[in-house]
Amino acid sequence: MADATVPTRRPLVVVANRLPVSQDDDGTWQPSAGGLVTAMRPVIEEVGGAWIGWDGGATGVPDRVEGFNADLHPLPLSRAQIQGFYYGFSNRTLWPLFHDLIRTPVIERRWWRSYQEVNRRFAEEAARIEVGGEAPLFWIQDYHLMLAPEMIRALHPASPIGFFLHIPFPPPELFARLPWRKELLRGLLASDAVGFHTARYCDNFRRSVSRVIPGAEVDGDEIVLPEGRRVRTGAHPISIDAGEFSELAVDPETERELADLREQFAGRHVFLGVDRLDYTKGIRHRLEAIELLLERNPALRERFAFVQIAVPSRDDVKEYRDLRTSVETEVGRINGRFTEPGGDVPVHYLYRGIPKPQLAAYYRLADVMCVTPLKDGMNLVAKEFVTCQDAGEGAGVLLLSEFTGAALEFGADAVACNPFDVEGMSFLMETCLELEHADRRDRVGRMSARVRENDVYRWVADELSLIEEGAAARTPEGSGTRGT
Ligand code: UDP
Repeated sequence: MADATVPTRRPLVVVANRLPVSQDDDGTWQPSAGGLVTAMRPVIEEVGGAWIGWDGGATGVPDRVEGFNADLHPLPLSRAQIQGFYYGFSNRTLWPLFHDLIRTPVIERRWWRSYQEVNRRFAEEAARIEVGGEAPLFWIQDYHLMLAPEMIRALHPASPIGFFLHIPFPPPELFARLPWRKELLRGLLASDAVGFHTARYCDNFRRSVSRVIPGAEVDGDEIVLPEGRRVRTGAHPISIDAGEFSELAVDPETERELADLREQFAGRHVFLGVDRLDYTKGIRHRLEAIELLLERNPALRERFAFVQIAVPSRDDVKEYRDLRTSVETEVGRINGRFTEPGGDVPVHYLYRGIPKPQLAAYYRLADVMCVTPLKDGMNLVAKEFVTCQDAGEGAGVLLLSEFTGAALEFGADAVACNPFDVEGMSFLMETCLELEHADRRDRVGRMSARVRENDVYRWVADELSLIEEGAAARTPEGSGTRGT
């Protein structure tokens, strides 16, 4: 990334649930492959800084790793904290509440206490950070750490502080159910800027603030607090490194994988699903739609395959274990119903994460990519799919739930679906197959161009600019160095 595009000159301190490093099979630590880490690397390279995150139970995390210009601050958590803060409050209270109550949120006071305790540990670690003379910019990530901005503000009054929410922000009527709604909003509002994926989530947040915080007012994109301080809000959709995925799509290893898959699935329409095994992803509804599709179209059965890659997730949580059982029962039932003696099964189910070249090969193989979550903050799989298709001159169709953040970016170039309408979705699956090749190719081209334009580097730059602007506006001189 060019120097001019780095919107801050301050050291950057990222505060996130997880650290940006992972361990190879041979034990070597290296920067993680995820989008957030990839996006942050060039900025961190320029300005330096630190990253605070839960160590995930790992021991021997190094202070620094090659290729990532930040000090690592691993935080160990106790078993009780992992249960209360992580599996409890983050993933059984906030996650379902923020995903429109697809499951009932569990309200437990002891989880809330654990959430407060762990947020405070992150903030205290932040207070200890020394990164040269200048006040660092603190950038706090996601729903695990919504109290941290206020706690960090108390310890670092002069620093710019920003927060980004990687999941949806729910409508005020749903958010208001949370017993600790005021505390969470107060936590966030200590930031100079709060970012969301879409204008809708941003609006939900602003309306929740007006409802819950007495005296707070909304003025355009800003929230004016009773004490007069202004907090910026902004919608910046997260994305992928489009260049990296374009290259991966035509990498020799991907081509080899693709050749094997093409042979395996020759003569069949391939439908694909790639998701963490999460109840928000709508995998059950998708399977039911596929069953209806095959029921209606006996002729299609011989020429059809649905590949579902289900990446294991949060299997310490009961709702996730139950989901796995129900998905696997459904896969078995559909295969039992439609497999002919001597023939292949219609549903290919892989319960595992797969290497990137193999994933890219599946993206290129698919005729129809089924991204049908019941609710999803953004959905990067959709962006990866169109990028890989385009790089490989493909004409695959994106069947996309209207309840994803990505749907707002792709508009009518995706085939929009309501995943709750299972029968409607099964008809749309047929529609996908009927689209003309030239039309499909044009759609892929337009969607991929949009991903290239709004890639993850742009997301980082837009977010950091918003935080700097918010901090500058906090002081009359615009220097952003005075405390609140
Ligand atoms: N992914 C992965 N391994 C796999 C399949 C998928 O690492 O075997 C990645 C995929 O490339 C994507 C991410 O998992 O970047 C899923 O992101 P998304 O926004 O779609 O959903 P999330 O899991 O964050 O809810």
